[in-house]
Amino acid sequence: MKPLKVAMLGCGVVGTEVATRILGNAADLEARIGAPLEISAVAVRDAGKDRPGIPSELLTTDTAAAIEGADIVVELMGGHEPARELILTALRSGASVVTANKALLASDYSELLAAAEDAEVRLEHEAAVAGAIPIIRPVVNSLAGDRITRVLGIVNGTTNYILDQMEKEGWDFDHALATAQELGYAEADPTADIGGHDAAAKAAILASLAFHTRVSIDDVHVEGITGVTADMVETASAQGFTIKLLAICETIEDSPAGPGVSARVYPALLPKDHALASVGGAFNAVFVEAEAAGSLMFYGQGAGGAPTASAVLGDIVSTARRKVLGGTGQARRSIGNRLPVLPISAIRTRYQITFDVFDRPGVLAQISQVFAEEGTSIELMQQTQLEPTDDDAPQRAKLVIATHSGTDAALAKTVERAVALDAVNELKSVLRIEGH
Ligand code: NAP
Repeated sequence: MKPLKVAMLGCGVVGTEVATRILGNAADLEARIGAPLEISAVAVRDAGKDRPGIPSELLTTDTAAAIEGADIVVELMGGHEPARELILTALRSGASVVTANKALLASDYSELLAAAEDAEVRLEHEAAVAGAIPIIRPVVNSLAGDRITRVLGIVNGTTNYILDQMEKEGWDFDHALATAQELGYAEADPTADIGGHDAAAKAAILASLAFHTRVSIDDVHVEGITGVTADMVETASAQGFTIKLLAICETIEDSPAGPGVSARVYPALLPKDHALASVGGAFNAVFVEAEAAGSLMFYGQGAGGAPTASAVLGDIVSTARRKVLGGTGQARRSIGNRLPVLPISAIRTRYQITFDVFDRPGVLAQISQVFAEEGTSIELMQQTQLEPTDDDAPQRAKLVIATHSGTDAALAKTVERAVALDAVNELKSVLRIEGH
């Protein structure tokens, strides 16, 4: 067989691992594919930079020329443009594309997939969600005959590390973030991670594939972890919960807005005995519920050069095998608009609300009445006296309320009314309870 030409766009943290493994494992890969892989070009911004393990004659800054004549284009540059335009050019030229670019897929998935289908080539992106963890292929292929109802994931290692350290070490958010940055888990600008946007991109991709419905990042309700305090983590723990930043995608039959799909990211309480609660450090895990399969869990390293390269290489090998066998491109898995995407106000879940209240007779009755009038059903109420700040200050208490399932809209109205009561000194936190 003549060699399959692989053009690499980008040779950074992930690209270097991919390229050196293709070069170093050539014989094994050839045996698995049935033809040799030949890296035809490695496009970068700075072709003069020393890159150990990468032959300098492969390096170029001419991305368009790198794509020409390639069988497989591996996009590991990141960002929106020029990555989008280069992927479209590659697909239209008849090359299959492998990418890890979650940000681009979360916004332009339908357009890129349509271009791949029109050109009868493949667009593969296992590495775009949860690094080394095989999750795209199980959702698209292994569960293709089942009906996925829910995907619940810890898909951002940085935030999981921060929350895990806050719980285990009692650190506050700033200290945990600074440590994550020192250890290289968080970037110098951590906004995309701690703001929940990176997880939201992955939620958009997972929801689109799981429910055959176009879900873009703009459809995903996002709340990050910057508001999570040491006190919230401690209160959660005392109640038998752990706080995790969750990406949640589900089909909902009976929302007030009718049937639809929901994709959302927020820090939520998980019971400590839930399978995802024990996912520590910078690890990722995705919990999938399907009608026939039941619950499945996928766990592993969600980022880093080598783990991410593993997923990219898997896509390269499977695309190359398909080329060798003469298979066609996409197996017609266009994302349609099967179901509407529901707003967060229509989502039903349980809540934990923590108030700082004045500790005097009648307070609990006043608050309970507001909850009852707004139809928010209380499951549990727990009051703990707070240490007085000084002798003259009125006695205060921490009041933790867990509710039965209700909509976001109803909860927001209940909390707004409760906070206005003169018995309430301050609203400390509102957290959703998931995993039930
Ligand atoms: P990176 O280290 O910043 O590498 C980016 C590479 O692209 C560099 O080689 C850079 O060239 C090249 N590049 C950027 N803009 C270019 C342009 N306009 N023309 C030519 N080359 C250009 O990024 P990374 O961490 O490897 O991430 C790559 C992709 O994988 C991203 O989409 C990311 O979201 C995704 N991903 C990364 C991880 C991870 O753990 N790092 C995990 C999952 C997914 P120079 O070397 O000359 O600067």
